[in-house]
Amino acid sequence: MTDEKYDVIVVGAGTGGALTAFSLAEKGVKVLLVDCKVEKLIGKKVCGDALGLHHIKNVKLPYPPKDTFKGRIDFVKVYSPSSKYAVTVEGEGLALDRHRFGQWLLGLALDKGAELMADTRATTLSYERGRATQLRMVCKGQSTQYIKAEYFVDASGYDAVLRRQIPDTPGIQRDVSLEDVSVAYREIRRVEQVEDIGIAKIFLDQELAPGGYWWYFPQDEHTLNIGVGVQGGRNINPKDKLKEVIRRREDLQKSSILEAGGGIVPTRRSLYSLVAKNVLFIGDAACTANPIHGGGIGPSMLSARTCGGAIVKALNDRENEEEKLWEANTEYTRLYGAKSASLDIFRMFLQALTNEEIEFGMMKQLISDKDLAEIGYGTGSLTLKDKVLKLLKGFTKPGVLINLSETAKYMRTVKEEYDNYPHAKEFPEWVSKVEGIFKEYSRNYAFKK
Ligand SMILES: Cc1cc2nc3c(=O)[nH]c(=O)nc-3n(C[C@H](O)[C@H](O)[C@H](O)COP(=O)(O)OP(=O)(O)OC[C@H]3O[C@@H](n4cnc5c(N)ncnc54)[C@H](O)[C@@H]3O)c2cc1C
Repeated sequence: MTDEKYDVIVVGAGTGGALTAFSLAEKGVKVLLVDCKVEKLIGKKVCGDALGLHHIKNVKLPYPPKDTFKGRIDFVKVYSPSSKYAVTVEGEGLALDRHRFGQWLLGLALDKGAELMADTRATTLSYERGRATQLRMVCKGQSTQYIKAEYFVDASGYDAVLRRQIPDTPGIQRDVSLEDVSVAYREIRRVEQVEDIGIAKIFLDQELAPGGYWWYFPQDEHTLNIGVGVQGGRNINPKDKLKEVIRRREDLQKSSILEAGGGIVPTRRSLYSLVAKNVLFIGDAACTANPIHGGGIGPSMLSARTCGGAIVKALNDRENEEEKLWEANTEYTRLYGAKSASLDIFRMFLQALTNEEIEFGMMKQLISDKDLAEIGYGTGSLTLKDKVLKLLKGFTKPGVLINLSETAKYMRTVKEEYDNYPHAKEFPEWVSKVEGIFKEYSRNYAFKK
């Protein structure tokens, strides 16, 4: 064991962990960042590589350097199963060079004084009198070290190595159920000429991407990020589905694979609490990705900023530690958690639709571009137009319309509960009430195998 003690140990140096370390180090906090990857591979991750520029602004980062992205995204287009109908979501973004973007964030943290232990796997968290005290780590696959800290941050992504071993804590699920993740496979392909550079395309199709979607994201004139994400628990291999997507596209017949790989992203509402005593959770370890499209880079950085800020306050006011850390929850809920929960209801609604119903909904424009943009940005509102309500009266597809109208009601109810996010004392009671709403919605409207 080393005698060295840190204020904070952050496990995982992905987008969330690197930004947490940066947020802490810039305030003079003694922080250790641990990642199982070797330093030069940190940031490399199977991803769609798309990032809305509003996320960068929200977390107060400067515009990323030129070498961290390959191209720009002008807007996103979401297509119906037949591709006949499409909705445009305005908003600029970047087609990232994911590895370099990650290295940039890591560099920002190290420049501010964060220390890095790369090629080091965090394993076991030890507790004394209910408080986490030290972390066991295996360095370079061999030597074991135990390092102490006041606070621990789980930024280990889907692995959630700390979350999976915390003692029973209301509002924190150690495991995420398979139905609440997207299992994805993507390829980076070299093509003769990408279609519509600057437009990131999302295709809804329950046959090719059950419970998810497939995407076509141009990176530059000749490079394409193409992939399929499906709902977990359906026993479907997204790699087979991507093969089918490519088989159907003539323009991709002569393309070649530059990189390929699979990954998992949790797509449920964020954890009810990002705090369990002196352990905090951010990014995929806290299920912060947008439940509808799985975009998780932005929310991982947002949760990093909120948790980082709360830890700084707690370190400066140890007597009121609990209250200061709880601010991570109230702030995150205000900024994003409430929207994430409301969108989780909408995610379940979408996953239960048939292709015919999606086609019908998009043809009739049941959801406006504005609603869709808000859903994409995670602002989570769904105000059904009078038109939908009129259609409800005796139309040919009453099922989907009634469900949509009920879904909008549940989304509002959930949002209201989150708008009254509780203090720590009333938290367990609040969790059971909110869980009850989700269970009820899921029982009545979610996809059943
Ligand atoms: C196929 C796919 C496509 C996606 N496309 C997009 C997209 O286009 N846009 C978008 O915004 N989001 C996308 N996402 C989601 C996004 O990639 C994640 O939400 C985001 O990377 C989460 O960041 P994070 O920092 O929480 O976790 P990660 O980026 O996963 O970082 C976790 C880090 O922890 C380290 N680690 C894990 N276990 C340990 C351990 N025991 N000890 C030490 N270190 C450990 C890992 O090495 C890693 O560096 C996609 C995800 C997938 C799988």
